[in-house]
Amino acid sequence: MSILGMPRKIQKEIDKIRAGFLWHNGSRKRYHLLRWDSVCRSKQEGGLGILNMKQINLALLSKWAWRFRDPNCLGWWKDILLDKYARIRSKAKWSQLWKYINDLEQILKINRMNIVGNGRSVLFWEDTWIDDKPLKIDYSSLYNICSNTKCTVAEALSSNFAVIQFNRQLSHVQRDMLCHLQQKLCTVHLTLAPDQVCWVGGTNGKFSTKNVYRWLDFGGIKINWYQQIWDLTIPLKIKIFLVMLSRNRILTKVNLRKRGWEGSTSCEICGAQETLQHLFFSCYPQYKLWQWGLAKFDYNCQINSLSDLGHMIVHIDIAERTPFKIICAAVLWNCWLHRNDLCFRNGTVKSMRQQGLAILSTLHYWNGMWSDKVRAVMKELMPVLEELPLQLTLDDTTMP
Ligand SMILES: [Zn+2]
Repeated sequence: MSILGMPRKIQKEIDKIRAGFLWHNGSRKRYHLLRWDSVCRSKQEGGLGILNMKQINLALLSKWAWRFRDPNCLGWWKDILLDKYARIRSKAKWSQLWKYINDLEQILKINRMNIVGNGRSVLFWEDTWIDDKPLKIDYSSLYNICSNTKCTVAEALSSNFAVIQFNRQLSHVQRDMLCHLQQKLCTVHLTLAPDQVCWVGGTNGKFSTKNVYRWLDFGGIKINWYQQIWDLTIPLKIKIFLVMLSRNRILTKVNLRKRGWEGSTSCEICGAQETLQHLFFSCYPQYKLWQWGLAKFDYNCQINSLSDLGHMIVHIDIAERTPFKIICAAVLWNCWLHRNDLCFRNGTVKSMRQQGLAILSTLHYWNGMWSDKVRAVMKELMPVLEELPLQLTLDDTTMP
């Protein structure tokens, strides 16, 4: 993958096998809860962080394109490629590696800053070297009529712009623009040192395939909420459950109906429509459980949806925030287990006391994963939680 581009057909076949691990249970097919490109998104963007084959292939290949333009990277391979292909214009006669070097050059250009030394390897119009973008963007009117768009910084400055010729006479506006450009370049002085390149897509200026992959993978929006879920010290299975929950991809009966399932969409406890919001927040026993818990922890608010929960967590004291998130994760997970028990194992409706005990048991099970800091705060919160099963009785599940 670091030398050759992967054919689309092979990439699709490999992705099909990988998707099979996620969505198939032996011969039994499961519902696809997320599109494959969403599964491959970063965890901060609501994906599962599984590597995107096409992008990792491009990121690995980009290393060659970067080395090719890095004046400090020398090697016979560069000389051979240049000697063999630089003069051939027909792409059909190019090797696959040379094609990729040329294609990826366009991607890398955006994140490459040239530090001009002797100016011999930096393109005057098309490389980024004096501003944070190439001159051809701010001075497009001049670039579009320039007859030598591939001239280097050295050629332009050492000839005092004599190599920059235009196809037609400049208008007043273009003449002013050229004057402005010349004034801007007065401060640039060439030296004898070779040019340098640095990568602006990362934090330390150094190029890495990891940074290129991140840049290619970035879909534009990072959501803090997802990162908070992945940072929790709870089992991976629960983190994936919470991500699916926050994306409304949990297979509640209403969501199943949207996927063609024909059964009843009634809640097993109260008979209302089993939406995600109803199951986890509005169904009466669950609603009452949240209210009881919030009152016990002195949080004076109502939780009717996942976004209410998110807003409330932001206002919790920072020292208690992580333990509180873990408790919420345990409440949501146990709610889901309870519902599945009712749907698939002919279970009986648990009293809130039993639900409280189940939540405590889950928290004790996760205890081994916590840091000392979280465990210390939990030690103080647990006694409050342990009051829950004693105070709530079977009668509390009765609808008002
Ligand atoms: Zn219900």
